Amino acid sequence: MKTMQADVLIIGGGLAGLTQAAVLGEAGAEVIVVDREPPVSQLNENYDGRTTAISFASHRVLQAAGAWDAMRKDSEPILDIRVADGNAPLFLHFATDEDANGEPFGWIIENRLLRHFLFENLKRLDTVRHLAPVEIKEFFSEAGSAGVVLKDGRRLEAPLLIGADGRVSPTRKWLGIGIHEWSYKQNAIVCNVAHRHDHENVAVEHFMSAGPFAVLPMTRSETGEYRSSIVWTVEEKQSAHFLKLSPEKFDAELQKLFGEHLGDVHHVSKPMSYPLRLMHAKKYTGPRTALMAEAAHVIHPIAGQGLNLSMRDIAVLSEIIVDRLKLGLDIGAPAALQTYDRWRRTDTLLMAGFTDVLNRLFSNNLVSVAVMRDLGIGIVDKIPPLKGFFARQAMGLGGKAPRIVREGRL
Ligand SMILES: Cc1cc2nc3c(=O)[nH]c(=O)nc-3n(C[C@H](O)[C@H](O)[C@H](O)COP(=O)(O)OP(=O)(O)OC[C@H]3O[C@@H](n4cnc5c(N)ncnc54)[C@H](O)[C@@H]3O)c2cc1C
Repeated sequence: MKTMQADVLIIGGGLAGLTQAAVLGEAGAEVIVVDREPPVSQLNENYDGRTTAISFASHRVLQAAGAWDAMRKDSEPILDIRVADGNAPLFLHFATDEDANGEPFGWIIENRLLRHFLFENLKRLDTVRHLAPVEIKEFFSEAGSAGVVLKDGRRLEAPLLIGADGRVSPTRKWLGIGIHEWSYKQNAIVCNVAHRHDHENVAVEHFMSAGPFAVLPMTRSETGEYRSSIVWTVEEKQSAHFLKLSPEKFDAELQKLFGEHLGDVHHVSKPMSYPLRLMHAKKYTGPRTALMAEAAHVIHPIAGQGLNLSMRDIAVLSEIIVDRLKLGLDIGAPAALQTYDRWRRTDTLLMAGFTDVLNRLFSNNLVSVAVMRDLGIGIVDKIPPLKGFFARQAMGLGGKAPRIVREGRL
C-alpha cells in the first residue's frame, strides 16, 4: 500500500478547502487536498450557479493564497450598499467614502470563476498536491497522525487533518460530532441578470415578506452588457413554481422585483435554487482533526457571509499552523486545536445569530414588527457609531481579527 505524507491533509477541495491549501502552500507547508469530484465537474455551469460577495477581509485571505491578482479583473467592487424594507422609502445607506474610508465593502465574483482561479493557483504551488477525484474508504487517527485510506489503496496521512468537506461532512460523521440545525423553510433562487442601465457598483437588499431579495453588481459581460446577480429568497413550497416558469414569465417576475431603476431586465444564466438551513457543529475539533467552513457551520445567506466566515476560519487556522511549524511544535496537538475552536466559535455564533434574527425580523408581515424594523433602519442610518459597526461587519473586520486580515500577511 502506497503511503503519502504531508504536514496537513485537507478533505474537501471546494472553495474553502482550495483556499486553505493555497494559503498553507504559499507559506511553504506540505499539503495534500482531496476531493471526490474532478475539477472538470466542479467547473460545469450546472454545478454552482451562485456568485459570492467576497468581503474586504476575505480578499486579504485570497491575497495570502496568491490567488487574488488573477481573479481581480472578474470581481466587481461594491462601493455602495442600500437596504430597503420591501418598497418602503426608508433606506439604510452605506457609502464607501463615508463608511469604509474609500475601500470597497467587498467584490462580487461568480463561484464558477472563483473555483477556476483557485484550481489554476494550486498548479503554481510545488508543496501542494491536489488529488481529485478520489474515493475515501476509511478515516483513521493514530498517536502522531490522522488520515484516510482511499479505495485505490493509497494511504494519506498528516499530523493534522482538516475537514473542509461541506455541510454533510464525512469527516464530521467519522468524528461522531453532533450538530444543531434547522430549516428556514425558504429557498434561495439565484441567477445572473442583464439590465439596461449601469448598476454603479450599488448592492441592494430589499426585505420582502417571503425573505430578502438581493441585487449584487457584477462585471460587464464579454459583449458589454451590464449585469447583476440575484439572491431571491422565496418560501420553500414556491421555489419549484418559479423555476418552472417560461423564460419570459420568469423575466416578468424579475422585472416586478427590480422595478424600473435598472431598466429592462432579463436573466442570462440558468436560475437555480438552494434550500436554506442553519447548521452548527457542537465541536470543531477531534483527535488531530479540525472542521472548517460548511463542515462546521452553515448560515442564512441574507448578509452574504457564509464563505466569508470560512475565510476567517482559514486565516485563523493558517496562523496557528504556520506559527507552530516555525517553532517546531506539533500542529495537531490538543492545545493548537483548542485555540482554533475557541477563537472561531464566538465569531461564528455571533454571525449565525445575527443572520438568523435578521431573517426572522424581515421575513415577516406583522405590522408591529414592520414598524419596529423601519424604526430600527432609520435609527441605524442616523447614528454613525452604529453604522460604522455594521459597515465593519460587512467588510469582515469585526471581532478578534487574525494576522492575515489585520496586516495582510501570514
Ligand atoms: C444562495 C446562497 C448564496 C450565498 N452567497 C454567499 C456570499 O455572497 N458570500 C459568502 O461569503 N457566502 C455565500 N454563500 C455561502 C457559500 O456559498 C458557501 O459557504 C460555500 O460555497 C461553501 O463552501 P465549502 O468549501 O465550505 O463547501 P462545499 O462547496 O460544499 O465544498 C465541500 C467539498 O467537499 C467535497 N466532498 C464532500 N464529501 C467528500 C468526500 N467523501 N470525499 C472527498 N471530498 C468530499 C465536495 O465534493 C466539495 O467539493 C451563499 C450560500 C447560498 C446558499
